Amino acid sequence: MPCGKGTVPSRPAYLPDSVSLAQIVAVFVVQQRKKSYLCLFKQRQQTMGKLFSISDKPMVIAGPCSIESEQQLSETAASLSRDSRIAMMRCGVWKPRTRPGGFEGLGEPALRWIAAVKRLYPALPICCEVARPEHVELCQQYGIDAVWIGARTSVNPFLVGELAEALRGSGLAVMVKNPITPDISLWLGAIERIEQAGIDDLAAVHRGFSTYNNFGYRNNPLWEIPIELKRRLPELPLLCDPSHIGGRRELVASLSQMALDLHYDGLMIECHPDPDSALTDSQQQITPAELAAMLDSLKLRSHSETGPGDLRRMREQLDVIDTEMLRLLAQRMKISRDIGAIKRAHNMPIFQPQRWQQVLEHQMQAAREVGLDEEFVRELTEKIHGESLRQQEQTAPQTSGKQAQK
Ligand code: PEP
Ligand code: MN
Repeated sequence: MPCGKGTVPSRPAYLPDSVSLAQIVAVFVVQQRKKSYLCLFKQRQQTMGKLFSISDKPMVIAGPCSIESEQQLSETAASLSRDSRIAMMRCGVWKPRTRPGGFEGLGEPALRWIAAVKRLYPALPICCEVARPEHVELCQQYGIDAVWIGARTSVNPFLVGELAEALRGSGLAVMVKNPITPDISLWLGAIERIEQAGIDDLAAVHRGFSTYNNFGYRNNPLWEIPIELKRRLPELPLLCDPSHIGGRRELVASLSQMALDLHYDGLMIECHPDPDSALTDSQQQITPAELAAMLDSLKLRSHSETGPGDLRRMREQLDVIDTEMLRLLAQRMKISRDIGAIKRAHNMPIFQPQRWQQVLEHQMQAAREVGLDEEFVRELTEKIHGESLRQQEQTAPQTSGKQAQK
């Protein structure tokens, strides 16, 4: 959204309600008198002082995983700048690749294109990932507005410490993505190191964790960790990156809705004009048109609808646990079906009383250890086991063990 001389800019969605349109126009008029070319974004910086804040309207950051060409960047910026719900564009300039040989980003030439795009769309702040102090210096040099520290960097206190020193006094706003390991202390430590370097325009980004089993996600969301971070740091804006959690574009909408239901303060979404041809993360990127349709479909629940803060947080935790239990059950049923196929191959009966006895005893012992009511656990186990046998039936032909099934 270019804001040239003489046109009163429209109010972008990212401005919190506390700034009235009258205030914005007043600042604009004063600047017009001074023949200033300052854009609305600069006015916002002056009025609010910060890029990241907590407000009723979640902040949406969108843009390509990586900048691949000048054309791709300018096409994306043109589309995103037309959508007033997009508060900031993300661009990958240096790409941390898990394995060697992939596209590692274009580095400084991409920053030159960003600087040109910023002249065209001065109201669209731009952020990119930094992993080395030199990256911070270059970002400053090319007028980048905000940076994020990626998951492979936030995991390392030495690297975060070096970045914190480079960021000191830089004027850059900073996002700290969760470290790849599911360790809240490392995430908190990275945030604290950045904060101690005097950066107060700060946000956390939840992008999921690498775990032994990611339950069908690229990165396991483990929602309880960001919820706990929010409980400990309620003043810190928390954004969700559904693209890197899901790893597949079909999951972006439901993960975004989950984040909004959990009252996150914003979303960071990967967006590319032609996702299938993207050089990095092609399966999880969506087009600007798909992004716009997805934003249309998201529902915002107000805090008042969901009760007092503590109750809301506890309910959120219950919802997360309930979903995780279903996910685990689905995984258990898949293993059951595989077992059914093996039984069929070996001509074994589906129901094996001795095995069932073992399962039940094991669960009763576990119930006592974790302090759950034994009768409740017995009923639950019977239900799960019954469904498991039913699933095995679907893969294995009926055998004489069938009649013993509950
Ligand atoms: C990215 O945002 O493109 C990225 C590499 O993120 P992460 O650090 O979450 O993997
Ligand atoms: Mn990516």
